Amino acid sequence: MSLDYPTYDSIMTHAHDRRLREKMYRAWATRSSDLGNNPEWDNSDNIKNILSLRHEAANLVGFKNYADYSLATKMAGSIDEVLTFLQELAARSRAAAEQELSALQDLAGMDLEPWDIAFWLEKYKQAKFSVSNEELRQYFPAGTVISGLFALAARLYDVELVEEDDIAVWHKDARYFSIRNAGGEIIGGFYTDIYARNGKRNGAWIDECISRQDLNGSPVLPVGYLVCNFPPPDDAGLSLLTHDDVVTLFHEFGHMLHHLLTRIDLPSISGINGVPWDAVELPSQFMENFAWSYEVLEKCSAHPESGEPLPRELFDKLEQSRNAGAGLAMLRQLELGLFDFQLHAEYQPGEPVSSLDMLNAVRDEISLLKHPDYDRLPHAFSHIFAGGYAAGYYSYKWAEVLAADAFSAFEDAGIFDPSIALRFRREILEVGGSRDIMQAYIAFRGRKPTIDALLHQNGIQSA
Ligand SMILES: [Zn+2]
Repeated sequence: MSLDYPTYDSIMTHAHDRRLREKMYRAWATRSSDLGNNPEWDNSDNIKNILSLRHEAANLVGFKNYADYSLATKMAGSIDEVLTFLQELAARSRAAAEQELSALQDLAGMDLEPWDIAFWLEKYKQAKFSVSNEELRQYFPAGTVISGLFALAARLYDVELVEEDDIAVWHKDARYFSIRNAGGEIIGGFYTDIYARNGKRNGAWIDECISRQDLNGSPVLPVGYLVCNFPPPDDAGLSLLTHDDVVTLFHEFGHMLHHLLTRIDLPSISGINGVPWDAVELPSQFMENFAWSYEVLEKCSAHPESGEPLPRELFDKLEQSRNAGAGLAMLRQLELGLFDFQLHAEYQPGEPVSSLDMLNAVRDEISLLKHPDYDRLPHAFSHIFAGGYAAGYYSYKWAEVLAADAFSAFEDAGIFDPSIALRFRREILEVGGSRDIMQAYIAFRGRKPTIDALLHQNGIQSA
């Protein structure tokens, strides 16, 4: 077995042999470290060098440390604000996580180690909710989901999405749609290429082909592409999506709307450009929320044989299973966020604290589980050492809080309320990076975001 994530995840979730899970966990947790297989791949020195160089680079341009430098272009205002944000979420999630852990330990009949959690959580979900992905996907043919999603966008934002057959595409699965205002005026367009095939990059993402701009009186409309890797259509032309796939599609489409609905004429700040890193996932995660509404899913589903929409009782089970393990998952993400942020905020050039000591200190504060001494999580934490999330991993939670808080604006008026949706379009989707994002958010919501809606949405605390 190889140490790629799908293999690791499958073993952790499904392998009945506890010793196998532990062996896999150990191999996973020591990747690229002094305890890994090959000293050549040990990242210990790389971690030290990267932290030292980042600190020096931040100093060179006048920042106290790399965390300060990172925040200069983000929505979060200060180191204290980020730390307080993460710590408050942790404090308010702790009781729920403790209850979840003890429910899992009751089911297992023993104390659980880190390599037991995913396995027993899966058993717990099967015992309690018995919702099957295979059963669900029978109701989500890709074409039906897309029509339902476009109808939702039309209803919320007063736009129309029209397929254009005369635009050249690169593959028979690719399609092109224009987006039009209520009066029929074309304001942009996008390609979709949603099925997996050999040689295509994995995952799901959007990007821009052209940004909206008008620099010299000849306006250019935005064009983007939306790519997924859903199961290719069978002989009957049918591709059935899991509910996870549906959520993914909504997510990416939320990014696409951000790109397409912009009214800004300067390309560097139109659409998704120039939007702070910790706020750029707001439109996408906001859109995900609609994929958890029965009223929306009813319009996105049709059984290929009966034509029936998703049955209500199946949706209810799906919704109940949504929050299983939410408290534990929350603590896990907060542990990573705090570790990353403190590591960069508290760096001292003369006597840098080791990344392992920092991790253990954070875990003592946050984690409910005892991790083995061999755990070398930092050595393979590529988001912060090889990607763009340095002193920014907290952004995932930050954006989730924004999205949940934004969505909760619909609570009283209903999720199709046109005046709230239109305000979201005007204040958030149209302004790109032209406006301070907190000011834009306050213009939409009437106040600053709070963490309550996310905790409520995760079933961690009632509203
Ligand atoms: Zn995204």
